[in-house]
Amino acid sequence: MTIRVAIAGARGRMGSTAATAITEAPDMEFVGALDYKYDGWYINEGTLNEYSPGVRVYTSIAELAEVERPDVLLDLTDPEAVFPNAQKALTLGIRPVIGTSGLTLEEIDQLKMLSEQNGLSCILAPNFSIGAVLMMKFAAQAAHYLGDVEIIEMHHDRKLDAPSGTAAKTADMISKVRTPHLQGHPDEQVNAYGARGADVQGMKIHSVRLPGLLAHQQVLLGGEGELLSIRHDSFDRKSFMPGVLLAVSESMSQHQFINGLEELI
Ligand code: NAP
Repeated sequence: MTIRVAIAGARGRMGSTAATAITEAPDMEFVGALDYKYDGWYINEGTLNEYSPGVRVYTSIAELAEVERPDVLLDLTDPEAVFPNAQKALTLGIRPVIGTSGLTLEEIDQLKMLSEQNGLSCILAPNFSIGAVLMMKFAAQAAHYLGDVEIIEMHHDRKLDAPSGTAAKTADMISKVRTPHLQGHPDEQVNAYGARGADVQGMKIHSVRLPGLLAHQQVLLGGEGELLSIRHDSFDRKSFMPGVLLAVSESMSQHQFINGLEELI
C-alpha cells in the first residue's frame, strides 16, 4: 500500500529535504503541501521546492483532505502553526507526524486526547535522527548513576524556539530517573541574567545559536572526580530522513499518541 503524505512546511529547509525523501520512498507518495500562502500553486513553481512537480499547495487543510485524501500530515513548520495543523488533521482523519518543535505541554496533552478519541496515531518526534535518539536514551541511562546533569544544545541562528525540542525531551527523559535536586553551589550568585541556563528540576539547559551550526547536543554528567560527555551532531538534514520515513511508516500501524522516536526503535 502506498502511504499518501501531505507536508506542511514543504518550502522550508526540513520540509523540502523531507519532500525529496518521501518522493523517493517506494511505498510513499507526496500528495499535497499545506501552507499559509501560495494557494493553488504547484510546489515546483517559482522559488518553492523544485523537486516535486505536480504537487499542489493548499491553504485549507479541509480542501487538502477532500481532494488529496492524505493518510499522514508531516508537519515541519513553526511553533505557531504546528498545533492548529495537527488538531485539524486529527479531526479530519489524518495522522499527524510532527517534527516541528515548540508545542507546549498543554498542547501535547490536547493532541494526545484527540488522538485517543479518534483512534488515530499522532507521532511527535522532537528529533528524527536515530543517533540523537540514542544519545537521549544513553543520557537517561547514565543519569540514573550520575545525577548532576547539564545539557548544552547548539543550533543554527534561524531557529525560533529555545530550548530545542530535543533538549526539552532529553531533560524530560532524565527527570524520570533523576531525583530532583539543586546543582552547583547552594549560595551561587548569578551576575549576568541567564548565565546558569534554564532550570529543569535543578538540571541546567544552555542554548547556543550560531551561524554555521545545524543541530548538536552535548549532555554532561558529573560525578566525584569524573565527567561523562555524551554528544551528538547532525551535520546534514539528511540525518533526519530515515527517522522521518520510519515515523510516517509506523503512523499507519499505530493508533495512539507517540512522544518520541525512541518509542518506535
Ligand atoms: P524553516 O526553513 O523556517 O521552514 C519552515 C517552513 O514552514 C517555512 O517555509 C515557513 O514559511 C513554513 N510555514 C510557516 N507557517 C506555516 C503554516 N502555517 N503552514 C505551512 N507552512 C508554514 O524551518 P526548518 O529549519 O525547516 O525547521 C522547521 C521545524 O522543524 C522547526 O520547528 C525546527 O525546530 C524543526 N526541526 C525538527 C527536526 C526533528 O528532527 N524533529 C530537525 C530539524 C528541525 P515562511 O518561511 O514563509 O514563514
